[in-house]
Amino acid sequence: MPPPITPLELSKDDQDDLVFLEEHPAAPASTGARNVWRVMIIDDDEDVHSTTTFALGNLDMQHRPLEFVHAYSAGQAREMLQHEPEIAVILLDVVMEQDDAGLHLVRYIRETLKLADVRIILRTGQPGYAPEIDAIRDFDINDYKTKSELTRIKLFTTVTAAIRSYEQIRKINDSRRGLNQIVHASTQLMALHGVQNFAAGVLAQIADLLGQEASGVLCVQECHDSGCNELMVMATAGAYRHLDKVTLTVREDQRIHDAIELALAQRRNVYGNDFITLYFAGKASRDFVAFMDVVRAPSEIDERLLEVFTSNVAVGLDNVELVTHLHNAAFYDQLSKLPNRTRLVEILDATLAGPARDDATLSLVDLDHFAETNDALGHQFGDLLLIAVAGRLQNELGGQLTVARIGGDIFCLVGDAEQVNPARILALFQRPFSIDGQDVQLSATLGLVRLGEHEGSGADALKDADIALKRAKSQQRAGHFYFSRSMGVEIRERVRMMHALRTAFGQNQLFVVYQPQIDLATRRPVGAEALLRWQTPDGKFISPDRFIPIAEYSGLIIDLGEWVLRTACRELVDLRKAGHHDFMMSINVSQVQFRHPHFLDMLRNALEDTGAPPEHIELEITESMAMEEPDLLIKMLGQIKQTGVSIAIDDFGTGFSSLSYLQRLQIDRLKIDRAFVTEITGSARGSSIAEMVIQLGRNLGLAVIAEGVEDERQAQILQALGCPLAQGFLFARPMTATALNGWLSNDALEGAA
Ligand code: C2E
Ligand code: MG
Ligand code: MG
Repeated sequence: MPPPITPLELSKDDQDDLVFLEEHPAAPASTGARNVWRVMIIDDDEDVHSTTTFALGNLDMQHRPLEFVHAYSAGQAREMLQHEPEIAVILLDVVMEQDDAGLHLVRYIRETLKLADVRIILRTGQPGYAPEIDAIRDFDINDYKTKSELTRIKLFTTVTAAIRSYEQIRKINDSRRGLNQIVHASTQLMALHGVQNFAAGVLAQIADLLGQEASGVLCVQECHDSGCNELMVMATAGAYRHLDKVTLTVREDQRIHDAIELALAQRRNVYGNDFITLYFAGKASRDFVAFMDVVRAPSEIDERLLEVFTSNVAVGLDNVELVTHLHNAAFYDQLSKLPNRTRLVEILDATLAGPARDDATLSLVDLDHFAETNDALGHQFGDLLLIAVAGRLQNELGGQLTVARIGGDIFCLVGDAEQVNPARILALFQRPFSIDGQDVQLSATLGLVRLGEHEGSGADALKDADIALKRAKSQQRAGHFYFSRSMGVEIRERVRMMHALRTAFGQNQLFVVYQPQIDLATRRPVGAEALLRWQTPDGKFISPDRFIPIAEYSGLIIDLGEWVLRTACRELVDLRKAGHHDFMMSINVSQVQFRHPHFLDMLRNALEDTGAPPEHIELEITESMAMEEPDLLIKMLGQIKQTGVSIAIDDFGTGFSSLSYLQRLQIDRLKIDRAFVTEITGSARGSSIAEMVIQLGRNLGLAVIAEGVEDERQAQILQALGCPLAQGFLFARPMTATALNGWLSNDALEGAA
């Protein structure tokens, strides 16, 4: 049962009440929610509604009258509050359907509807129904009054205070929202590159802050000791687009000109009724001013937000050139001004994500022998040459094409398949490049990727192109190669093996075996070849034919080769200690090792540290390697010979060494490749190459050894042809050091017997 309701007590002295109110001349009543204060009365007593509206009817704060919303039960109020916007104050009866219906409603307003701003004044007929102090705090109840307390004057002041507090809360929330917007605006602006973009962004953000369309200009003025330059328009929006990039004078637009001059003179923002000018203080000599039309004069909050905005953005305007510069440095090649690798990857990602993808091709263009040209003609000349190449690629392959420079002498093209076409690109290198009156002929090698077939990112596409380029280079200069998926698989397998090999080396899974070399006449061992072995933890052997190229490719061969050399040297020393004094040790040396600048030092140190006698060491180099860069090789071999070790050419007969060239090399021995030994069948034709090599050795005064001898017949023919030495499964398979020691002391003697 609701308690009896005490009617609202009205003051007898209405006139006195007004001294407590702000006095404003009556403003024209507006019906829009924005221009009234909305007060909701929730009470099951109709009288309370009428007395309240009567008491507060002519209250008017800051030109905004009150507008009443009525609910006669807690249930009805719940319903209405879901749709009622911007209620400032609720005058709420505690006791309605239930004794505590009002309190439940408060909980519903705050917790369910999440209306945090609205001020709530609880009213009750009896003191006994007052809410707990906790509820007042928890539900942010603005005031609690018994109805008898609420004389008209008290009601007046209570509601006025509640509206003020509501307004305050709204302001704080608005400016919090505004500040968020400013933070957001600044972040957005920082992402824009280039002064022009930034300036245009500033205009857009100002409009956004004010909740209107952008229509204005942003100017910069530079001042020096001699005076100030003219106003330069950096960006325009809306109605002022025609002013883009002009010098702003009185003649162009007097109103804007004067407003901007005023802001510059006063060094502050100026707010007019239909425009604002925002002053951005730049560094000493440069200031920025934005002029913008506004649909209504900015509110106090707007002004405060704009102040924060201008001081925030002024820093950005000043930094933007720096940022632009940094951006350029980060994304563009300084020499050619072309996009660099980072930027290219972005472009590739965009192409892969866009409609052009299906028809797009990526090509790396690697200039052949550019390093030599650069060294020979000087770096300045090299730079000019690169610029000329960049220019030709850009100008002669047609529009819609991205040309980037992603490495010293590597360019990259992205465009449709017709433009990025190997024949067209390579044709550009048929004419010489003319630098300082000098003609330079260049050639290039291409690695291409069809982006339509590519799965993966832009960076991956670039890797694939690189794989294709490497393949093109390994096959022939001035060629091209398209990436295919099988190449990728192959490469990944190689990469996997490279890691495994590194680990294996670190974990001593590699070891050296020795295959004896035999004097065919006496059948006694004269030496052994050291051969590397890799046994994986699961017991599998991986052939050196597979892992040596990977060790070379990854550079691991440098350490690996040194380790083999030292191991073999130590084994030689051990064998000598065991009495095998004439024994020779042959060690394979890869081209990569051989070209390493410290190879000679490495060799000398290994010999010295192990105490192996150099005259009992032989290095095997392959014939193909002997053919590359003859002058360098001749010099290297001379130096190696000085250490006392001898040199054999391995796999002889597979390459195409010219006789005259062979004569110039300081070599000691030719090793007939297994393939020619296998061919020996007794027929004249089958043994012809072996015979030629043996003959050649004799003519050049070189020793000859045959490798891969598997049967007695081959051994006999070789011996008959005059080949003194041989190596092969017929005599012994490669074996561990321990096994070799045993073999030498037993089997060798038996073999000789
Ligand atoms: P290679 O230097 O020509 O070595 C001779 C290869 O022939 C060895 O293969 C050897 O086991 C095999 N062989 C010897 N006799 C016979 C025979 O009668 N029949 C047959 N079918 N094969 C025979 P391996 O050990 O698999 O080595 C393959 C290649 O790997 C070597 O060819 C050499 O080029 C390279 N290699 C091995 N160890 C090293 C090393 O420590 N450093 C470098 N750089 N390369 C190495
Ligand atoms: Mg060999
Ligand atoms: Mg060989």
